[in-house]
Amino acid sequence: MMEMRQLLQELHQYMQDREQEMVEFLASLVRIKSITYEEGAAIAWLQEKLESYGYDEVAIDAAGNCLARMGSGKTKVLADAHIDTVEPGDPRDWGFNPLEPRITATTISGRGVVDDKGPLTALVFAGRAIKALGLESEVSFYLSASISEEDVEGSCVKAMMEQLSWRPDAIIVAESSDNHIIRGHKGRALIRMEVKGKAAHASEAHMGENALIKAIPLILALDAYDQLPSDEFLGKGTLEVTKVICDTPSLNTIPGKVTVIADRRISAGETQEELLKELHDILKLSDATASIDVEEVTTYTGYSISQEDYFPSWVLEESHPLIASAKEAFLQVTQTKPVVTKWDFCTNATYLCGITGIPSVGFGPGDHTLCHSDHEILSFEELVTSAQVYMMIALLFARNQRNLLPEIDGDSKDISG
Ligand SMILES: [Zn+2]
Repeated sequence: MMEMRQLLQELHQYMQDREQEMVEFLASLVRIKSITYEEGAAIAWLQEKLESYGYDEVAIDAAGNCLARMGSGKTKVLADAHIDTVEPGDPRDWGFNPLEPRITATTISGRGVVDDKGPLTALVFAGRAIKALGLESEVSFYLSASISEEDVEGSCVKAMMEQLSWRPDAIIVAESSDNHIIRGHKGRALIRMEVKGKAAHASEAHMGENALIKAIPLILALDAYDQLPSDEFLGKGTLEVTKVICDTPSLNTIPGKVTVIADRRISAGETQEELLKELHDILKLSDATASIDVEEVTTYTGYSISQEDYFPSWVLEESHPLIASAKEAFLQVTQTKPVVTKWDFCTNATYLCGITGIPSVGFGPGDHTLCHSDHEILSFEELVTSAQVYMMIALLFARNQRNLLPEIDGDSKDISG
């Protein structure tokens, strides 16, 4: 087995030599518009690229996610980045066409360079480095370019995972993290509440019961409610009314039914039943019923997904072997101590870790506050560094699984094969 210092040097050199190639790869990917539910062209392009790079296996599943493998080691690490983006936005706000990336001597700007095509690019090159450095026997590195994360995070990776005949040992969720190591984030749920009244002509309102008026105590109480469970690491859950749907056939009819939708961010590991149970007294104010909303998704391949809108939070202890491997990978590559923290937004990890329970870690280049903005920008340096960190996370975790971690100090003891 290659000595650690030498391996890091070779990895560094490998990525440095490919900096321009990575930037061109990212630029090409940005040029292929891939807003949510319209990722087909980008996925097809990526599949061809991965095949040309010598990935051992490249496949597109029924939902339309691309899944590729590099290496054949016993430990299976799945690294996920989504390929869909939000709408490109107005070129006047960007100052240029966001699908024609602006490239300077050190940076690239355009839709998706931070969220999430930059992280995806880094993963692609991390996989390539595994083969180039002769590490194929140490780890099976699976790369998933998943779809439709922006609209329904969790749902399309669920479709992918359900079709697998194997289970990853660990998952890397590649999303911008300001170069921090992420060991958890809140979950989310959409709660659908229904208030029934009786429709009647507005001129004869006394003949009916106005469901909208009846729903007001519920809406106000939801807004005032703050008895939400808290967690030392994740913070407090949130509950916000986001939509009120009034079922009324005309504007001179009092509504017979009102649906109130609330977004719930889940801090501690609350079950669906607990989320609904805590609303019991509030619901009574308007004689309302509540359920978890169901998301109906049709992907670009025509695949249908029906998914309950409940994705729990996830947290790994800082001492978990995957987090320890990620910290060590970052330290080895950058020679700086990593910050270990949480994400304040939801990612595919809600399903990948929150529901499946497979240990996951988040990491990605770029400033996360630029996601969805009209000034997404990424430095070449971050791109090249994150590709090295990704490869090292997978490798060190695999070695950790084989109790080889002391080798990190450069004390090579070869038991491969
Ligand atoms: Zn994202």
